[in-house]
Amino acid sequence: MKTIGLLGGMSWESTLGYYRAINEGVRQKLGGLHSAQIAMVSVDFAPIEQLQHADDWTGTAEILGDAARGVEAAGADFLLICTNTMHRVAPQIEAAIRIPVLHIADATAEVLLADGVGTVGLLGTAFTMEQAFYRGRLAERYGLEVLVPHTADRDLVHRVIYEELCQGRVEPGSKAEYLRIVASLAARGAEAVILGCTEIGMLIGQRDTEVRLLDTTLIHAQKAVELATA
Ligand code: GLU
Repeated sequence: MKTIGLLGGMSWESTLGYYRAINEGVRQKLGGLHSAQIAMVSVDFAPIEQLQHADDWTGTAEILGDAARGVEAAGADFLLICTNTMHRVAPQIEAAIRIPVLHIADATAEVLLADGVGTVGLLGTAFTMEQAFYRGRLAERYGLEVLVPHTADRDLVHRVIYEELCQGRVEPGSKAEYLRIVASLAARGAEAVILGCTEIGMLIGQRDTEVRLLDTTLIHAQKAVELATA
């Protein structure tokens, strides 16, 4: 079995989800007492979040490049950056290490293409919904048409991520708002909606809606299990 590298802590609430999903996946595949071989560095999210909102992506890349080197030194065979947003600096992190990075948008796009989805809704931080590193990758590499919520709803989705979910708060009112936004994306033509922030699965899931949801935490974790146990 290969050793899965995790760059976690962004936020730790969602890193918990990765740890559980990866270990459950290995148990399901190998059975008995098998569990995943994991090397993880979990960073302090507060300074990262400040740099994000100050538009200092170079600063975030320096911290995450160092952390990724720590994961590599601990014996990881490949690396998962356990947040969609910080794939903004995936090229700089890749340049800091020799092991490959398993990109969260690639893992998600593979599932969408296998399902025959052409038009997809995207929920995530404002950075993920608005900047090219994520939606551009889905469009250019995979030919997907990506729909995002309108401005006021993007603000709401972003605020709930940082002020509630990343701080461990799951509010029924926010759940209702997210489900309303999912429904509006579907009404605009989305055949599925990407939960493109690793905390959103804490708030909504497939049980809550008829619209097909893709939880990037679970998809990324599942892909890691496949690679580690191949
Ligand atoms: N975990 C979130 C994501 O998947 C947001 C936190 C962050 O900014 O890294 O984008």
